[in-house]
Amino acid sequence: MIKKIAMQTPLDVLKLYYGYSSFRPMQEEIIMSALHGKDSLVLMPTGGGKSICFQIPALLLDGITVVISPLISLMKDQVDALRANGIQAETLNSANNETKDRLVRQQCMDGKIKLLYISPERLMTEIDWLRYAVNVSLFAIDEAHCISQWGHDFRPEYVQLGVLHECFPNIPVMALTATADKVTKSDIIDRLHLKEPLLFVSSFDRPNLSLDVRRGYSAKEKLQTILNIIDRHPQESGIIYCMTRKETEALSQRLCAEKVSVGAYHAGMSMTVRNQVQENFLKGRIQVVVATVAFGMGIDKSNVRFVIHYNLPKSIESFYQEIGRGGRDGLPAETVLFFNLQDLITLRKFADESGQKEINHEKLKRMQEYAEAQVCRRRILLNYFGEINDCHCGNCDICKAPPTYFDGTILVQKALSAILRTDETVGFTMTIDILRGMPTENLVSKGFHLLKTFGVGRDVPAGDWKDYLLQMLQMGYIEVAYNEDNHLKVTEMGKQVVYGRKSVELAQIQHETKTKRKRRRLQQKAGQEDHVIPDHTQILYERLRALRKQIAELFEWSDYVVLSDQVLRLLVEKQPVTIEEFADIPGIGNYKCRTFGGHFIHLIKKFQQEFQTQKSEDKEEPVQTPISYMERQKQLHANAYAPWTKEDDERLTALYEEGKTVKELMEIFQRNRGAIRARLKKLQCLE
Ligand SMILES: [Zn+2]
Repeated sequence: MIKKIAMQTPLDVLKLYYGYSSFRPMQEEIIMSALHGKDSLVLMPTGGGKSICFQIPALLLDGITVVISPLISLMKDQVDALRANGIQAETLNSANNETKDRLVRQQCMDGKIKLLYISPERLMTEIDWLRYAVNVSLFAIDEAHCISQWGHDFRPEYVQLGVLHECFPNIPVMALTATADKVTKSDIIDRLHLKEPLLFVSSFDRPNLSLDVRRGYSAKEKLQTILNIIDRHPQESGIIYCMTRKETEALSQRLCAEKVSVGAYHAGMSMTVRNQVQENFLKGRIQVVVATVAFGMGIDKSNVRFVIHYNLPKSIESFYQEIGRGGRDGLPAETVLFFNLQDLITLRKFADESGQKEINHEKLKRMQEYAEAQVCRRRILLNYFGEINDCHCGNCDICKAPPTYFDGTILVQKALSAILRTDETVGFTMTIDILRGMPTENLVSKGFHLLKTFGVGRDVPAGDWKDYLLQMLQMGYIEVAYNEDNHLKVTEMGKQVVYGRKSVELAQIQHETKTKRKRRRLQQKAGQEDHVIPDHTQILYERLRALRKQIAELFEWSDYVVLSDQVLRLLVEKQPVTIEEFADIPGIGNYKCRTFGGHFIHLIKKFQQEFQTQKSEDKEEPVQTPISYMERQKQLHANAYAPWTKEDDERLTALYEEGKTVKELMEIFQRNRGAIRARLKKLQCLE
């Protein structure tokens, strides 16, 4: 096999092993540079198809490509994915025992492996062996920004990789990263001693990620929003990032109480528990992970459908890397960032206490600008990464619903004068209490209940005041004195408003409502689980997904390693019933086609037969399918094909409204799913 492909082109290999007939932007140029023995630095966003760039040269070059990767979980997933495509790959890391190590080494020396994944510290102990006993064709250094102290993931063990070129002067090195600013970029080149490296910078745009910021939400509103998002993605994976361990645990408990399948993940937990949570998430056994930033570097799961930031992240780099874990298969993924003042105060404190105070404050400021933006958010992100962009993306909250404004001069005057009358000795909460006329003990003890402004903003809910104060901060009418207990100070511009010399426009507040969730819950019960795929195709999708899960468990792979969500959707759309048609689906290479193509085709054929029957049943027309089907249905469901009585109908409506699921109703009425759903539709319980 290997000898044969040596005569092939990169495109042939792509088609044969990965099942795609064209490269994504820049991949081919990067592959060619490696084939020509040149060093390169590749900057590509997560989900941009980085690994193809070194995997294809590995298959075309004589010898072994050594891939240096920082995390064991990441290696395992990549090696699984390679094997699922019929490519020989192995790992050398601390997860192996001595026997396994010996076996892997032998296979490398026999030339039976095309890609060897290794951790940086392990590389150092194996370097002489690699040098004298193995035919190395290429070094690929993944997450190369870990070598730089400027990056946000500095790992001391990466620094030693500087010796690679000394030991292997003629072997090309490809450094790959998803995040690197200018300084980090040149730092990577210097520290790895790359020789006249070719620089490949692909666009950082990820148009399939929606961008949404919610400002000044209370904990209750945040929870409601999160539950709505989870409802929009039944059985689909998502990640929620929190700032602290405490919040991580509290939120995961709250979600658990709402019957969400959820796991918590933070650095305070034992390694065993953490690995278990990660594994469960990768394998699709839990739907949602609530985590601190400690979670994610080893996550190469392609079908994460939403990423939520419960708090403001500390920099745009980390934010972009975290949301980048969504939608790696190219399908839409939703991202939501919650932003409030308390986060800003906490993060400022962290920045103050950090070793690089100025840099961190600057990074936080840029993050804040993103969260407060009134122009397309994608434009801000891309400009941050040096891509000039002035269009409207149509997939962020600002583009979708440009803010509307009203004359807020009087509201602003009330707030500013409340602050001034306390001699600027109050923070956010106390200001709101004064405006709302809340005589808290602390407030009364300071005599603020006697102020003229006490209770002048009673008609505005506290949550709205929070939002308006944030807007005032953003527009420069107030400042937070971080060194004075976070007291609010009225700026010169603010005083202009107080004296009536300036008017102010405030943005209307958008609230998350609860009603949506109830409605969605009912729809879910009726089996209308996905708003993207309608009706019967949803059934096929679920069955394909179940088969994928079975295969994944058999091979001990993650489900998306078997087939990505995108491939599943294509299978639903095209419904291939021959092996040739199956092989034509993009993303299915030769090996997958041979190994489990037959199972999927069988399932699709069976579905097609069954569905034609169900369609006529839905219309309640005489059934024109073979008698055996009717007979079988009668055996399975005693009342199949019996007419519905008036009592039946009343009971069905009542039970459904009580919250019984279609499955439970099938039991009670002894009828199949199609019959129950059709009746519910007829009775107008279902749309
Ligand atoms: Zn936009």
